[in-house]
Amino acid sequence: MDLLITAGTVVTGAKGRHVRDGAVLVRGETVVYAGHRSEAGARTAPGTPTLSFPDATVLPGLIDCHVHLALDAGSDPVGTLHATDDKDLLLAMAGRARRLLDCGVTTVRDLGDRAGLAARLRDAVAAGVLPGPRILSATTPVTRTGGHCWFFGGEADTENAVRDLVRRNVAGGADVIKVMATGGGITKGGPPIWQAQFTGTELRAVVEEAHAAALRVAAHAHGTEGIAAAVAAGVDTLEHCTWIAEDGFDVREDVVAVIAERGIHVCPAASPDWRGFAERFGPRRADEMFARLRWMADRGVRLVAGTDAGVAHAVFDDFVSSLEFFEHIGFSPAEIIDLATTEAAEALGIAAETGLLAPGHRADLLVVDGNPLTDLQCLRDVRLVLAGGRRHLPSGAAA
Ligand SMILES: [Zn+2]
Repeated sequence: MDLLITAGTVVTGAKGRHVRDGAVLVRGETVVYAGHRSEAGARTAPGTPTLSFPDATVLPGLIDCHVHLALDAGSDPVGTLHATDDKDLLLAMAGRARRLLDCGVTTVRDLGDRAGLAARLRDAVAAGVLPGPRILSATTPVTRTGGHCWFFGGEADTENAVRDLVRRNVAGGADVIKVMATGGGITKGGPPIWQAQFTGTELRAVVEEAHAAALRVAAHAHGTEGIAAAVAAGVDTLEHCTWIAEDGFDVREDVVAVIAERGIHVCPAASPDWRGFAERFGPRRADEMFARLRWMADRGVRLVAGTDAGVAHAVFDDFVSSLEFFEHIGFSPAEIIDLATTEAAEALGIAAETGLLAPGHRADLLVVDGNPLTDLQCLRDVRLVLAGGRRHLPSGAAA
């Protein structure tokens, strides 16, 4: 079944590439044409259903590179997780997936949950049973006994245990492997945020096992020692990458140069509540941390968008506030859309399938009022979402 969508502007690819008076022709779950409306007409069979949005923009579906569907974004997400059984958790996760889709997020990378539930939700969405973005699931993150996010169930303390856990994740249908290279903020009693959790040998074992199964590795890394070890081990993306030391920050030009040269993507996982975080963290220290991102970008490091949705105050229905973080550190709206579409797809290894609007790509797109290439706020007015060709009307959108 074909569908023709016409709009005042169609964003087709990276760097703000767009056409005025554009159209996207969708067949089933695939884009067959994206470009000028006049050319779309010749390819469209008579009687094809057409949706017309003369004052709106069509752009590639947004990608959130860092979510935790298993966490509820309340003030105590880990406590709530402990108090929720798997059946209720899966239902709650389905609601969170739907809220992401409402915002035009058509792909998410879930970087850690419990009992393989995100993978089950992924399969239900893929089968069309539930509305939601396409989910790439890390299943169980690799951590230490009592280490960062141990409560997801992935404790491993030797090289062999690490290898076994990665293999179990692969067998359990993981799409990506997540390793907690350092401590983190949400684990009571865990190691401090700057402290490395694994040796270089153990991190290399994670990468070897993952790459042997053709999966990428996402490394959670705050502290500089953990960042450097993860980079040396050959991970594919760095999450947070805050360069935090026990007393302040410890930036290393040599490590940043390698991150840039190898094209390792960095996902700052800036919460929609990053302003509140800055207040709690202390504005000066927060500004210093934010400046590290700009510093990396200036050295050619490729950044991507992610929200850490699920951790405290990181809600599932406010992707745009998270994107405003990049505006705060000096990115233009067109550049920011790249970080959430084409660059994100590259980081996740799915650039041949999504992240831009071109023939053969999945029909992942959203329609928003106005022109988000010049005003990011336009992304808040979502009229329609297509995820893998499936139409989704955001709750609250005018029909
Ligand atoms: Zn996270």
